[in-house]
Amino acid sequence: MDLGTRLIAGPDGQAFPFDPGAFFLELLLTGGPDGDQRWELLRGPSDLAAWLVDSRLALTAPIDADDVRIRPAELRAIKQFRDTLWTVAHVVAAAEEPNEDELEFINAAAESSMRPRIALDTGVCEWATPITGSQVLGTAAREAIDVIGGDRIDRLRECEAEDCALVFLDTSRPGNRRWCSMQRCGNRHKVKAYRARHAKD
Ligand SMILES: [Zn+2]
Repeated sequence: MDLGTRLIAGPDGQAFPFDPGAFFLELLLTGGPDGDQRWELLRGPSDLAAWLVDSRLALTAPIDADDVRIRPAELRAIKQFRDTLWTVAHVVAAAEEPNEDELEFINAAAESSMRPRIALDTGVCEWATPITGSQVLGTAAREAIDVIGGDRIDRLRECEAEDCALVFLDTSRPGNRRWCSMQRCGNRHKVKAYRARHAKD
């Protein structure tokens, strides 16, 4: 599977690939809001280190879990950020005004950032190491600020299926993405439309 595309389990237990289109939205997939432990993937710092290896950030340069240093307090901050972002992303996707305190929270999280650098031995891009939890947090926050405060805000959308709350950034050229995944909600919509058409016959 492509880096940054995650396998998600639907309510019926069927797995489908989902490309959230941005790292800060990919982070939302690591746990449910409000501390719902059933969906928590980041139970400890090593879980986040392992999760980053397959994340969209590895498109810039590979990430080795051994180069990631996350303190428990940093992990807590990342989860808090994730909860805030969950709310803000849905509000923005609904074209409503986000809460100022929540925006300030995202602003404050942007302090640090992962640093790409040119490796002197190979001449290709690598991540400066160690990668810290604050840097991971800041990288997600900066991206969120760039999207929410920029002209791509219209591309931040919630899947059109009524029973699906997945949020993505539409990175397609025509900008007409409607579904979290064609294999999931796109297909369910097609089946529904087909049945509706044939019910009239
Ligand atoms: Zn969906």
